[in-house]
Amino acid sequence: MVELESISQSGIIRNYVDGTWRDVTGDDELTTVNPATNEELATVPFSSEADVDEAVRAGNRAFEEWSNRPVEERIQPLFRLKTLLEEHQEELAEILVQDHGKTLAEARGELRRGIENVEVACGIPSMMQGGTLLNAAPEIDESAVRKPLGTFAAITPFNFPGMIPLWFLPYAVATGNSFILKPSEQDPLVPQRLFELIDEAGFPDGVVQLVNGGKDTVNALIDHDGIEGISFVGSTPIAKLVYEHAAENGKRVQAQGGAKNHIVVTETADLEFAAEKTVSSACACAGERCLANDVVLIEESVYEEFVDLVVAEAEAQVVGDGLDEKTDIGALISEDHETNVRNHIQTGIEEGATVLRDGRDVTVEDYEDGNFLGPTVFGDVTEDMVISQEEIFGPVLALDSVASVDDAIDRMNASRFGNAASLFTGRGADARKFRHEAEIGNIGVNVGTSAPMAFFHFGGWKDSFFGDLHAQGEDMIQFYTDKAIYIERWPEA
Ligand code: NAD
Repeated sequence: MVELESISQSGIIRNYVDGTWRDVTGDDELTTVNPATNEELATVPFSSEADVDEAVRAGNRAFEEWSNRPVEERIQPLFRLKTLLEEHQEELAEILVQDHGKTLAEARGELRRGIENVEVACGIPSMMQGGTLLNAAPEIDESAVRKPLGTFAAITPFNFPGMIPLWFLPYAVATGNSFILKPSEQDPLVPQRLFELIDEAGFPDGVVQLVNGGKDTVNALIDHDGIEGISFVGSTPIAKLVYEHAAENGKRVQAQGGAKNHIVVTETADLEFAAEKTVSSACACAGERCLANDVVLIEESVYEEFVDLVVAEAEAQVVGDGLDEKTDIGALISEDHETNVRNHIQTGIEEGATVLRDGRDVTVEDYEDGNFLGPTVFGDVTEDMVISQEEIFGPVLALDSVASVDDAIDRMNASRFGNAASLFTGRGADARKFRHEAEIGNIGVNVGTSAPMAFFHFGGWKDSFFGDLHAQGEDMIQFYTDKAIYIERWPEA
């Protein structure tokens, strides 16, 4: 059982509102489990409209003072938060593994990526500056400035509970806004611990708040007049709903959705390296990543050779409890999700794909109740098959041969998603073509998973994203501020 100060009395998750831990008053709740054992971890009560209202009011009260503080003062709690996150990184990683199921190495990497966003936001005094032009017109100087707007909310998914909140939170508060996080109800413990550290970092009351819950809590945030804007990360159908709902309410909104990502392997690629990266791209975090590249298109001349390498690499993966350092693939988030992935594998079989490796019969000694699946590898997966088109979010690879890089790009661009893609090649001309023609937000060449660093934006295209400004970096500063123009004339000067 994970012990946290904020839930130690009762095992019940709480909200962090106006600088204090509060009981949640909604009627619904969810019991969360350790996915490796299915033992109960905590109860997540869902916040009511009144809970949301309390947080939004506190956020707007805090905004009055916070937005007028010198920017140097605003970033000091972020420096303290960075230090606290680093000091507690190992403890947070262990909580994350037990709550989510991923491996320790993945949890450590995720937290590092989150901390990078805190570091980038500490540069806000430079990044938030506008521009000034002297003598823009006769006797007139003109400036463009950026201003914070009020209280923003972010709604985040289960697969990166330590990192994704930090795509938003540091930038929102550094620019002078108040911020409310509504994390996934499926693995709330890292956000809970994060807010214990936020409390220690010393933000003024109401500037950073945590509101737990599900669908109704999200709708209460979107419908609240006191919320300026919404950031969402999750599945495509919900991203679209949230985008439309928030836009209808006249709010700023950015909504990142699901994915179906491709890897293209040419005959000039280092095939062993490409096979290793392909399996880790598709199977890390048990396939529960929006950047997982799981459709693999291989030039005909090397198809058989590459298939053998992928199957051998898949066989070598160690499935088990994420806390065991030897584990490559941890547990899936829930029994329901494991069933979804199994159903997709069954669909692939019924569609006529060739089963090159079946990951369904894996057993993990002493963890018989966990939600484990080994890598499943399908060959001859044609474009029309469901397993080639829909996000599976499990350790399932779909391989097929293509005549050329052009054919691979055509097939990839026909997908309704555009989150990520990678090319493995030894030829610069292929790389250049791929880079120019891929209708994709995150493109990699000889890189298994093209995850942008915090100082670049993070976001996909097409049905993988609704909005215009993406997460992380400069885009977040634009999202969290509006521009104003000052025009000055001093004729006697
Ligand atoms: P999800 O859409 O089920 O849930 C995401 C959030 O939305 C949660 O906080 C949840 O409480 C809330 N929610 C659920 N149903 C809702 C509804 N009807 N109305 C309003 N809010 C609702 O997603 P998930 O299963 O937690 O996460 C996995 C998905 O997230 C995958 O599709 C994955 O590709 C995607 N994802 C995308 C990115 C990206 O950058 N594009 C990053 C991570 C995850």
